[in-house]
Amino acid sequence: MEEAILKLILLGPPGSGKGTQAKLLTEKYGIPQISTGDILREAVKQRTELGLKAKKFMNQGELVPDDVVVGIIRERLEKEDCQRGFLLDGFPRTTEQARALDEILNKLEDSQITGTINLEVDEEELLKRLSGRRICRECGEGYHVIFDPPTNSDNCNECGGELYQREDDQEDTIKARLAVYAEQNAPLVKYYQEKKILHRVDGKGSIQQIFERIIAAIKGSSKDD
Ligand code: AMP
Repeated sequence: MEEAILKLILLGPPGSGKGTQAKLLTEKYGIPQISTGDILREAVKQRTELGLKAKKFMNQGELVPDDVVVGIIRERLEKEDCQRGFLLDGFPRTTEQARALDEILNKLEDSQITGTINLEVDEEELLKRLSGRRICRECGEGYHVIFDPPTNSDNCNECGGELYQREDDQEDTIKARLAVYAEQNAPLVKYYQEKKILHRVDGKGSIQQIFERIIAAIKGSSKDD
């Protein structure tokens, strides 16, 4: 199985542990993680033409137009390191992007996405995870008041800096972010369900338990519906 070409999509709401699982999966399977959010943030930092186009949408928390992100993905998937598979994170966000991705893959090498993982965590748990996050103002180190508390509740273990809560990690904002996510994600779940490549994975439990569930889902791909 480790040798098979894996073209994976990872879907999951903010706070679902998607980033952590993406990292573990790319290490296990030796495939690159492709995050449109990361690519766009880098472009904004470097002030490239792409970055300038994307910045105003990102600052308002809106989706960057499909043609821009599809262009990014097309270029990225043509690179050598994607020939043995990849893990998409943050793309696709719309069914138009999902269709464009299918077309790109058809043209590139006539092969399709092997599996889409939908990490599922209920709202109550997501609220608990996200509203407990704290970040150091000085060095950016992250903590969680329940799951990873600092030794001194107000200061960073590393540098002693003051800890704060991001504005978008406050409860009302979190609820709004989760609602937007659910609305965006539902059509994608349907799209991949119809293609019979959607794996619903319970995202509650330890990092290792969730990782094992994802691997089992990937391995069972051919038998799933
Ligand atoms: P993320 O890090 O995935 O939350 O992405 C951060 C921001 O980048 C989003 O709020 C969007 O403005 C933009 N973005 C990332 N991926 C996409 C995508 N697939 N389609 C449209 N906009 C995106």
